[in-house]
Amino acid sequence: MNVLEVENLKKVFHTKKASFAAVDGVSFSLKKGEALGIVGGSGSGKSTVAKLITGLTEPTEGHIYLNGEDITEKKGAGQREIYREIQMVFQMPAESFDPRRTLGDGIGESLRNSGISKAETKLRVEKLMVQCGLEPELSARYPHEVSGGQCQRAAIARALAIGPSVLICDEITSALDVTVQKQILKLLTELKSNGNISFIMISHDLALVQAFCERMLVMRDGKIAEQGRTEDIIKYPQNEYTKLLIESAIR
Ligand code: ADP
Ligand code: MG
Repeated sequence: MNVLEVENLKKVFHTKKASFAAVDGVSFSLKKGEALGIVGGSGSGKSTVAKLITGLTEPTEGHIYLNGEDITEKKGAGQREIYREIQMVFQMPAESFDPRRTLGDGIGESLRNSGISKAETKLRVEKLMVQCGLEPELSARYPHEVSGGQCQRAAIARALAIGPSVLICDEITSALDVTVQKQILKLLTELKSNGNISFIMISHDLALVQAFCERMLVMRDGKIAEQGRTEDIIKYPQNEYTKLLIESAIR
């Protein structure tokens, strides 16, 4: 069964001058343990798709199904329950954290909020940090006191804390230097190998998507220009825009 399914998603933004659809009829599905890449130029609607799925913004039209259940209209407690299942990591690692609270507090926040004791939370946070390649001692640091790569690892640990079934990564390596990007990819690959989490990897980095995602979709002007197996799309792009993207990535 599909963990996640989105059907004809549409998001219209109204500005002073005009209305336009940032996401316009997007449909795709995600299987358990699978990684789906979303690529496309800046402004093509990738982040808006992510925000629609995580409930940060409401769709104008369309439906989102989690494990077969329509979650599009979920509010209140039902929506909080969904947030446990669908987690997101952002491009700027520090955005995942409150600058006035330690990384340990940030990583453990969802655990504490779900009623888990302070002592148990501390243990789980340590375990998550080790799993994400961080010294547990770093839990006492503030977000500005660690490197970008360490902060992104902590953001991943935070997203994993509550045991999500879907992890959305929105350009999570774009602000990091190349060696750190590789380390983060290695961490994600380890996380993926246990098969319990499904990933949506949003990135303009085709090499990253090629290395991590079985399937991908290409977005342009809010629409899906092309979707299919990553290998097939990169080898035999059908769409002119996809060809351009691939060519510019190779160059
Ligand atoms: P991407 O992540 O692919 O770069 P986005 O999803 O962030 O693209 O944005 C898609 C389009 O929607 C862009 O033109 C952007 O300016 C616009 N947009 C995004 N968020 C808002 C908003 N809250 N209000 C109005 N326009 C928005
Ligand atoms: Mg974006």
